[in-house]
Amino acid sequence: MSAPALVRGYEVVIGLETHAQLSTASKIFSGASTRFGAAPNTQACAVDLALPGTLPVLNRGAVERAIRFGLAVGAKVAPLSIFARKNYFYPDLPKGYQISQYEIPVVQGGQVEFVLEGAPRRVRLTRAHLEEDAGKSLHEDFHGLTGIDLNRAGTPLLEIVSEPDMRSSAEAAEYAKALHALVVWLDICDGNMQEGSFRCDANVSVRKPGQPLGTRREIKNLNSFRFLQQAIDFEVQWQIERIEDGLAIEQATVLFDPATGETRAMRTKEEAHDYRYFPDPDLPPLVIAPEWVGRVQAGMPELPAAMAARFRRDDGLTADAAALMTQSLAFARYYEAARDACGQPKLVANWLMGEVSKRLNAEGRGIDASPVPPATLAALIGRVVDGTVSNNAARQVFDALWAGEGRDVDALIEARGLRQMNDAGALEAIVDDVIAANAKSVEEFRAGKEKAFNALVGQVMKASKGKANPAQVNDVLRRRLGGG
Ligand code: ADP
Ligand code: MG
Repeated sequence: MSAPALVRGYEVVIGLETHAQLSTASKIFSGASTRFGAAPNTQACAVDLALPGTLPVLNRGAVERAIRFGLAVGAKVAPLSIFARKNYFYPDLPKGYQISQYEIPVVQGGQVEFVLEGAPRRVRLTRAHLEEDAGKSLHEDFHGLTGIDLNRAGTPLLEIVSEPDMRSSAEAAEYAKALHALVVWLDICDGNMQEGSFRCDANVSVRKPGQPLGTRREIKNLNSFRFLQQAIDFEVQWQIERIEDGLAIEQATVLFDPATGETRAMRTKEEAHDYRYFPDPDLPPLVIAPEWVGRVQAGMPELPAAMAARFRRDDGLTADAAALMTQSLAFARYYEAARDACGQPKLVANWLMGEVSKRLNAEGRGIDASPVPPATLAALIGRVVDGTVSNNAARQVFDALWAGEGRDVDALIEARGLRQMNDAGALEAIVDDVIAANAKSVEEFRAGKEKAFNALVGQVMKASKGKANPAQVNDVLRRRLGGG
């Protein structure tokens, strides 16, 4: 590993705590729906409201998703883990405690791997534990009053805690992206960051190289990769400023304000003992038999890293291309479908990295929403390979397909007259005309100026209205010029 980049002579240290909402239909300890966006308090049952006499019943699907995650990151799936009560008072927490896991979490250790500026990086995980989400306080629309919506109370979360292994805001963002891609790939979380299904708390400290870890401040609830990076950058400058002024950093919980780009202290940091953690007497220990882990293992999808390795090995893709093709399961499926339809892995990858990604990014859509299905892209690539159209013409066809001006590749090629000139006789006639009309360029070429040759190629392409095959034009021109 190369030495981490310093900021004004300080090393930045970051550990992330990520909350991934697990994609179960019902809550972690009750049968109420987890669907997002319902009218307030229509999806909170007696258990979620903490009515006296109600008891939690653990949702198997949440545990299964935690096991899936543990297996994917090479962690230990604990054969026995314990649910604990984390006690604090807040209006959106009706029980007065959150059910979480503390001393013995369900997932222990593991690691997340990703690429940072072309170099492989690995961040160790401390743990991942199951817990319930709290409700929401609604400060809008109440004429100065605050409302409580308990629909989210009891929604299953997997809190994924990293070791303080990251050394820059860019690395933290890449880690978060890799983790996000992984939980979506595993189909354990919908990954919708706007709806809060995936949110990060960033623990940040700075130190002079070689010194022990500095005191951290924790930035809460960052729900976009950009905010994550901005918030860390601001926080790092703030901490350095303070230390340079001879002041101490106090451990604190801070909020990021996207409007100002600043972090600001919310409260001094609670310590674990403030929460009076103790095992929840309402829930037995969570016991996971090896057979259960085995069944989950058997149902695991091929993971992105393994799939990328396969694309490099079997399809001859570069590391960058393979990483791009496996950015999501949907992307990988699209790539494989197009590849299988035309048998041209590298060309498919090039189109996906180029034209397709360019448009998807510009329009902020995912590959699922591509207006050009994989079979159509494959058909277009097939027409480039068999010489029917030039690359240039293919891009015009692609534009038309994307804009919904047609669905059939061959029909579009014909309708727009984009068929490449494959008639050798016609091309030779054009070449001869161009040679006759450009005596000066011909002379210069014969005197050894390659530039003149390119000018002649350009003239032929123009005369053919772009329909000539450039490689063929090269051949015919050289033959005609060489032969005198
Ligand atoms: P909590 O925030 O609940 O008190 P921990 O003490 O386990 O939990 O730490 C939470 C996160 O803070 C972890 O991701 C860990 O890697 C990170 N962390 C711990 N110490 C530091 C530090 N000095 N600088 C930056 N991050 C840290
Ligand atoms: Mg924390």
